[in-house]
Amino acid sequence: MTIRSYGIIHRKEDGACPMADATRPIIDPEFLALLACPACHGELELRDDRLACVRCRRRYRIEDGIPILLIDEAELPPEVRS
Ligand SMILES: [Zn+2]
Repeated sequence: MTIRSYGIIHRKEDGACPMADATRPIIDPEFLALLACPACHGELELRDDRLACVRCRRRYRIEDGIPILLIDEAELPPEVRS
């Protein structure tokens, strides 16, 4: 099993990606609309400086305008039990 979202993140490493522009603190709403939660494929919405899944409530941090959509990196809300 592989995590499809990995491709988004690794492009940051080459330094030439326009998405990594430091003058852009927050995610483009049109870009956000293309994203989905890697855990449940739910819709994501911006909450403070995180992307929050509206279904499973996981929260993903954003680094340099790039959401870190990794299940292992997600913050789970305290009220959720598995
Ligand atoms: Zn989710």
